[in-house]
Amino acid sequence: MTQEIDVTVKPRFIQAYKDGYPLILRESIESWDKVTEEGTVINLFDEKGKFIIKAYHGVQNKGYGWALSSNKNEVINQDYFSRKIKSSVAYRNDFYADESTTAFRVLNGEGDGLGGLTIDYFDGYYLLTWYSLGIYEFKSDILEALKSVVEYKGIYQKKRFDSKGKYLDDEDDFICGERAEAPILVKENGVNFAIYLDDGAMVGVFLDQRNVRKAIRDKYAKGKTVLNTFSYTGAFSVAAALGGATRTTSVDLAKRSLKKTSEQFEVNNIDLDNQNIIVEDVFNYFKFAVKKKLLFDLVVLDPPSFARSKKRTFSASKDYVNLLKEAIQITNRGGIIVASTNSANFNMMTFGDFIRKAFKELNVKYEIKERFSLPKDFRVLDEFKAGNYLKVVFIKKVK
Ligand code: SAH
Repeated sequence: MTQEIDVTVKPRFIQAYKDGYPLILRESIESWDKVTEEGTVINLFDEKGKFIIKAYHGVQNKGYGWALSSNKNEVINQDYFSRKIKSSVAYRNDFYADESTTAFRVLNGEGDGLGGLTIDYFDGYYLLTWYSLGIYEFKSDILEALKSVVEYKGIYQKKRFDSKGKYLDDEDDFICGERAEAPILVKENGVNFAIYLDDGAMVGVFLDQRNVRKAIRDKYAKGKTVLNTFSYTGAFSVAAALGGATRTTSVDLAKRSLKKTSEQFEVNNIDLDNQNIIVEDVFNYFKFAVKKKLLFDLVVLDPPSFARSKKRTFSASKDYVNLLKEAIQITNRGGIIVASTNSANFNMMTFGDFIRKAFKELNVKYEIKERFSLPKDFRVLDEFKAGNYLKVVFIKKVK
């Protein structure tokens, strides 16, 4: 068993940890000198020696570790992880039982009491994503725990813990069981998606947008022309086409998006004739659309929170207002803009301010139709608001 190390919490952080704030901040601990290795279990005490919580040390963007237990005697071993995984699986019973959806999140990091790790399910296959070397140190216990709790066809992993939190592609992502076909086909509310478990950092679809795709398909797409920007594999376009959109246009600057988007249409038997897939910088496309006086009934904006291309850098917190202004100009009156962001740097209220500002600066009236945040399987803690990163707003351009 690994040795546990005692550390002292600075007074002003104690209440937050007692109340369930799960992220161990570097500045909250008097000294990290004794904790030399990631994956070390640390016991946090106040200055009088009273136990507060047990955590592990792992370096991940804003934090130095995650809380594990409020029980001083908790032993962090396979049995501990089995209990965590069992309860997170039980929380997703509805998903396991639903035959029309075969891809969902099984364990969502700190939302399920285990910061630094996510586990996703893809039609019998499990994908573990490690967000720090610290949590990866527990790999064998966690893997054995998972195997003891679930039935699986195969298990895969992604490591996202070099210095910038990026994906490490130095080895095979396959761990055990049987290898998945490339791609495997999963279902989401009856829609097919092609998923690649061993082809880079991303597998082909972002599961956290499930309810947004359903809303587009069921309520917003019929008879509409759709522009999907930052489209990746075109999942929103697929939803729109299946919902009866007359035409979809998907724009992404990554070359892979052409092949990947065609494939997502094909696995749903959607005729490609009415689907336009464009490999281009979205900001150039906006210029082109304005020049050609193109107008769309539904425009989806789903940029990365931060991106650097040859010509520019885009940061959601700085540039979302301008992005919206571009979109407003090419949206029909009465049309809908789906504004989405996964930036954890600002909350729904600030996002609302961005929307207000963009419409005001163009002197255009709007109405908010509905808002989405993370779906149920992406479980979040009330005590950790930053974990609830997804914000999606359906905005109607009134006049
Ligand atoms: N909306 C997608 C996910 C978007 S991921 C979905 O629902 O699946 C972000 C995408 O933005 C990536 O595919 C990336 O290639 C693309 N991207 C980043 N900057 C871009 C730019 N300036 N123009 C076009 N695409 C861009």
